[in-house]
Amino acid sequence: MIYKMTDKDMEILFERISKDFQSFGSKEENGDIVFGDIQRFSDISEEKSSYPPKDFLIERSENILSIPRAEKRAVFGVKSCDLRGFYIMDKQILGKDPFYTVKRENTMFINFVCEKMCSGGFCTSFGGPVLDEYDVQVLHKNGYFYVEASDKYEKYLFGFSESDDQNVFEEHKKEFESLYGRLNVDGIENRMKWSSNLWNKFANYCISCGACNYSCPTCYCVDVYDDDDGRKKEWDSCILEGFTRTAAGNVRPELSERLRQRFYHKFKYYKLSRGAYLCTGCNRCVDDCPVDIDIKEVITHDYDRE
Ligand code: SF4
Ligand code: SF4
Repeated sequence: MIYKMTDKDMEILFERISKDFQSFGSKEENGDIVFGDIQRFSDISEEKSSYPPKDFLIERSENILSIPRAEKRAVFGVKSCDLRGFYIMDKQILGKDPFYTVKRENTMFINFVCEKMCSGGFCTSFGGPVLDEYDVQVLHKNGYFYVEASDKYEKYLFGFSESDDQNVFEEHKKEFESLYGRLNVDGIENRMKWSSNLWNKFANYCISCGACNYSCPTCYCVDVYDDDDGRKKEWDSCILEGFTRTAAGNVRPELSERLRQRFYHKFKYYKLSRGAYLCTGCNRCVDDCPVDIDIKEVITHDYDRE
């Protein structure tokens, strides 16, 4: 069921949800869009956050010699590309990483469907901004909020007005796709070439900072190490030299090999093993790369003409 709601309705919805959950949301802070505490619905920014809300489920650094616990949290203003990232990561880590799992099960995400494509974004290549799976999905269009919820959370919407247009999300999806088109991602797992000169070209200017991994809503790799405070798991990056360093040597000592691994994991290995590409088209890895390496080039490159 899709509900058509006003600003005032959304404040009431926010209050209802906040009675059961600790509420967070995307908001503007010192010129950046970040996630933090919010007191009311009108605090929420509808802009894409500078970083995805990944650390609600995978903390940057977390003591794992402890019992996984999670408060009930509601996160408002998550962009659909970022929520899709969680569904993609679920295929690999839900039920296996107890820290991720307990947070995932206790966190409600209220995703905002973009009305327009963000700068550089290419989410239509990976399904677009209207999701098939969600907790509570919101489309802000023509002065109203169109809201739908999964069975688990539908009770929060009872009593609001049902929308006369029950196809509004479907229509928005079609409109979005026809406006922005999509890159030809299909079959990229078979088109990429191990010996492509693209990997060396990128390696000539990549500075191995790891920003592309840290800013990605689908990168989930962590390092595990002990220090004085206990055993930690901490965000890691497949681009960093130490990522594959072992007692017997480094499996991928060359930067070109590490870059190739990143793209092969995203577009081939995960697709073959988990049935999804590890990318949602959010463009953050491009926005945050200091040397402008663009993942879209991996998708559009003509590997046969090298
Ligand atoms: S565009 Fe880049 S940052 Fe965004 S999901 Fe894809 S790989 Fe990750
Ligand atoms: S963000 Fe750019 S420079 Fe930094 S590791 Fe990634 S590709 Fe290399």
